[in-house]
Amino acid sequence: MTLPNAQPTASHFIDGDYAEDTAGTPIPVIYPATGETIATVHAATPAIVDRALASAVRAQADWAATDPTERGRVLRRAADLMRARNRELSELETLDTGKPLQETLVADATSGADALEYFGGLAADVTGTAMQFGGDWAYTIRRPLGVCVGIGAWNYPTQIACWKGAPALATGNAMVFKPSEMTPLCALKVAEILIEAGLPAGLFNVVQGLGEVGAALTTDPRVAKVSLTGSVPTGRKVAAAAAGEMKHVTMELGGKSPILVFEDADLDDAVSGAINGNFYSSGQVCSNGTRVFVQESILPAFLDRLKSRLGGVVMGDPLDEAVNFGPMTTEAQMDIVLRHLDTARSEGATVAAGGTRVDREGFWVEPTVLTDLSDEMTCVREEIFGPVMSVLTFKNEAEGIARANATDFGLSAGVFTRDLARAHRVASAFEAGTVWINQYNLTPAGMPFGGSKASGIGRENARMAMDHFTEAQTIYVGMGKVEAAF
Ligand code: NDP
Repeated sequence: MTLPNAQPTASHFIDGDYAEDTAGTPIPVIYPATGETIATVHAATPAIVDRALASAVRAQADWAATDPTERGRVLRRAADLMRARNRELSELETLDTGKPLQETLVADATSGADALEYFGGLAADVTGTAMQFGGDWAYTIRRPLGVCVGIGAWNYPTQIACWKGAPALATGNAMVFKPSEMTPLCALKVAEILIEAGLPAGLFNVVQGLGEVGAALTTDPRVAKVSLTGSVPTGRKVAAAAAGEMKHVTMELGGKSPILVFEDADLDDAVSGAINGNFYSSGQVCSNGTRVFVQESILPAFLDRLKSRLGGVVMGDPLDEAVNFGPMTTEAQMDIVLRHLDTARSEGATVAAGGTRVDREGFWVEPTVLTDLSDEMTCVREEIFGPVMSVLTFKNEAEGIARANATDFGLSAGVFTRDLARAHRVASAFEAGTVWINQYNLTPAGMPFGGSKASGIGRENARMAMDHFTEAQTIYVGMGKVEAAF
């Protein structure tokens, strides 16, 4: 079948327009459902990186001085444009990532538009505080940081560009965004739409490239902040590089999150939560609840329902809206997942469902359920970032919480129970940045999202993101005579 044209006008978007430098290394864009090359972009050369940063520096001061209501209006217009172009953007996201159109129509450009609309609404509501010291007083104002760098992972390219860009722009910053080189197409559309909505040139630039381009951006002295979505090892490198110049950082990193299913839970809801938290986007979601702890007495019932629900998986052309399960985004990620499955088998895991590469072109791995596991096994300890659910059992609440927390990660967690007090007790005992009770993986723009422990620093979305893209300046006001020793 003929795929829609995915070749962008040019590789980068700088100073309000597409920009090209074919001296940069060519990067093929591969449609994961078939493995065919659908576009080519070029990695940013040092000249491109410099142009992007220079235009951001030029544009930022005027933007910071712009009435915040006007800044918000631009973002809200961009949200409307994204919604109006949702189908076109969703098809491109599907081509870029392989995620089924059934998902991208509701979870990518729409989530990006939500962020633009939410932060557009908040732009005019950035306030400080005032303090009284006898007659004297002090107040704080929130100042934009300047030029911020966003670096994205490949699983949610549109959403990540908007979750970082919207709060940065709402608070008067400029952003240079580097998508993952695996999924370079959609951030260019976000830049195009922002310009169409009236954003002045230079405030949201997109440059392509691999880690070395991200590293060049991270260490440039013109950059005040780096917001990364990526793995823990990359997060450690980027945070260390940023620390050299004491830059601000937000780190949205990986996880190995737990879901505790108690015996009083609504079993259908718990199974649905586990499916959403393991197989949506073929498991390529940072906050996935990949360690599903089921209370011993309900394990057989849980597994029965889970297996029967897996009968509803529909694989096929991701552009067909009836398809609800797509390929892995890259061949390399498929190989990582298959290696993990080999390791799990060799360590004694039982493959209760799935477990193999799907016999079709492209990068497909079956939705997989592993059982007969112990907490020490590799598949239970390491992030796999694929459609692999590890099901374990627990006896009681204390044991469940202790084992859920026995990990260096701390991104997310979930609990399914009908006991209200236990739900809140367990939620607050989780060492995780985001916890869902009787739900999983929903992330509305008004809710802070981010990790604790090795899973990250800072929060995206909600008012907290506004704090992370501004800094307080304190101003002391002397109202009386100045006393001095001599
Ligand atoms: P990586 O960590 O491999 O890459 C993330 C981004 O960082 C990419 O754009 C990458 O470029 C870039 N990068 C790599 N090295 C450097 C460097 N030294 N300096 C600056 N930038 C660099 O992650 P993946 O793209 O493989 O994404 C999967 C990971 O992301 C998983 O661990 C997942 O859990 C996590 N994630 C976290 C989320 C969260 O919100 N907490 C959400 C989504 C994913 P390139 O790829 O071009 O080399």
